[in-house]
Amino acid sequence: MTQPVVVFVDLDGTIMVNPFERAVWPALLGDIAARAGQPLEAVREAVEAEYALRQADAAYPPLRAMDWDDIAQTVAGRWGMTVEGSAEALVRQYAASHSNVLPGAEAALRDLAAAHRALVVATKGLAKYQQPVLDALGLTPLFSAVLTPDSHNGLKRDRRFFGAWPEQTQLQIMVGDRYDDDVLYPAGHGFKTVWIPPLESVPTRLHSKDPFARALLYPYADDQPVSADALLLNLSELPDAVRRLEMSILGFTDR
Ligand SMILES: [Mg+2]
Repeated sequence: MTQPVVVFVDLDGTIMVNPFERAVWPALLGDIAARAGQPLEAVREAVEAEYALRQADAAYPPLRAMDWDDIAQTVAGRWGMTVEGSAEALVRQYAASHSNVLPGAEAALRDLAAAHRALVVATKGLAKYQQPVLDALGLTPLFSAVLTPDSHNGLKRDRRFFGAWPEQTQLQIMVGDRYDDDVLYPAGHGFKTVWIPPLESVPTRLHSKDPFARALLYPYADDQPVSADALLLNLSELPDAVRRLEMSILGFTDR
């Protein structure tokens, strides 16, 4: 039996920091740069450009679009090289030492644990890069399931990413930090959205408002056509926001 409510939770920048910036990229890109005789920044820009190219192509295979090792090999190939080692191996090596849970995340998730509510990871990162970090940080047991692009061969913009959860539940709530992946696309799938934007983007006059008023009053950019349902300053506000959504839509919650 599936619970009536599913809360999809983004990982990177929402509840954790992965080891890519601190350890994986410096090692992987540093090696390419050294052997290609290129500045590290040039390699990084090439990787980011290749990633952006794949993201912009809706027909690009979702798994290859998110495969950092494939992207790194493609970029290195332009300098006539093959990458030694892999992001996958580096993630495993540095998952425990160079990643962390964001403040308030674990407390919020534990607060939200309830019989009627499934907590499900919804990350755009591939399982091979994300699962080792979830495990190292001890976060895996807090979730009913982990959805990655591998799960259903889709990205968050594709409804199939979310598998059967939307059909099997009455209320779907997406929680995340990225406007496109965590607000725009999930809203398009019919989910309620709880957004945690960069704090500096939230005008201070909105800080004292509640998350639902804030979401209406936030100065969205021209390429942000839909409003989030709730807008958080930090994760300590998450449990109450989820319960208020449940009360307003289903007429019940767990306290
Ligand atoms: Mg994120």
